[in-house]
Amino acid sequence: MTQAPMLEVRGLYKYFPVHQAFLDSLMRRPHSNVKAVDDVSFTLARGEVLAVVGESGCGKTTIARTLIGLETLTKGEIVFDGKSVNERSQQPHIGLKQLRKRAQMIFQDPYESLNPRSTIFEIVAEPLVVHGLIKDRQERITAVRTALEDAGLRPADDYFTRYPHELSGGQRQRVVIASAMVLQPELLIADEPVSMLDVSIRAEILNLLRDLREKRGISIVFITHDLSTVAYFADRIAVMYLGRIVEIGPAREVLQSPQHPYTKALISVAPVPNPRLRRERVILQGETPNPINLPSGCRFHPRCPVAIDICKENDPQLKELTQSHQAACLLLSK
Ligand code: SF4
Repeated sequence: MTQAPMLEVRGLYKYFPVHQAFLDSLMRRPHSNVKAVDDVSFTLARGEVLAVVGESGCGKTTIARTLIGLETLTKGEIVFDGKSVNERSQQPHIGLKQLRKRAQMIFQDPYESLNPRSTIFEIVAEPLVVHGLIKDRQERITAVRTALEDAGLRPADDYFTRYPHELSGGQRQRVVIASAMVLQPELLIADEPVSMLDVSIRAEILNLLRDLREKRGISIVFITHDLSTVAYFADRIAVMYLGRIVEIGPAREVLQSPQHPYTKALISVAPVPNPRLRRERVILQGETPNPINLPSGCRFHPRCPVAIDICKENDPQLKELTQSHQAACLLLSK
């Protein structure tokens, strides 16, 4: 029997209602929504790293929060290890508590995600307490020690009684990773885990995530706006623009031969170590449109350097764009 993927996201929508002005509600004008995630589907295999990239506000963090149940989805289905997260689904479902035991999130800001009043031991042991696991004190100490050492904080016992403010940014992010790993999750959702850190520390944290994935076979959804970190360890890349995935594929293919004009623009401005390999820069014109009032047709058309008239009317679906973007656009124009 073939194993179910670690994660399947089917037609996910997440809209945030906008509070109506008094006059609008008096005149019974329809509610508006911020369309943060607008029909997103993807799968994640066991042990796979999927990078979700895009500018700020493209919906990637909302996807991360929805996957772990911090936001309720508006429509669609999230299936974790063959079980739906939605209680009303026809297929077997997994409860939120069980999901959060098996899937953990690493937040962007290690300064905010650690309780300043707790010791490092208390912080890393907390998930065990919340889930009622490992009640024996000595076994709990061993589990915390292992998690800290796996996260590169050695000797672990030296950190037990310290507080977050006594640690550097990189050490704090390692504590965040240790508290995620102490439950031995099968899925990690890492939301910009290195963007708040000094450049010198970023590689260390990325190395650590890569080692954890290799040693434990964990699946990772890696959310980032920085394509240079993606090249480092992602198996596949999903590129998001205004709440939707516009391109998804093996990392090497997407980076070396991007199809979508937005992906091409993103890659053209990403820093490269060898300046001779730099592509011609594509600077997109204008601002990202308002996610309350999405443009008609292809939502990228106001900024697309190769848009044609039909793009204002037809909204291309991902499957139409996977082969050759230009061919797909020409097909739409027929
Ligand atoms: Fe550009 Fe048209 Fe393709 Fe949209 S459908 S990305 S506007 S060429």
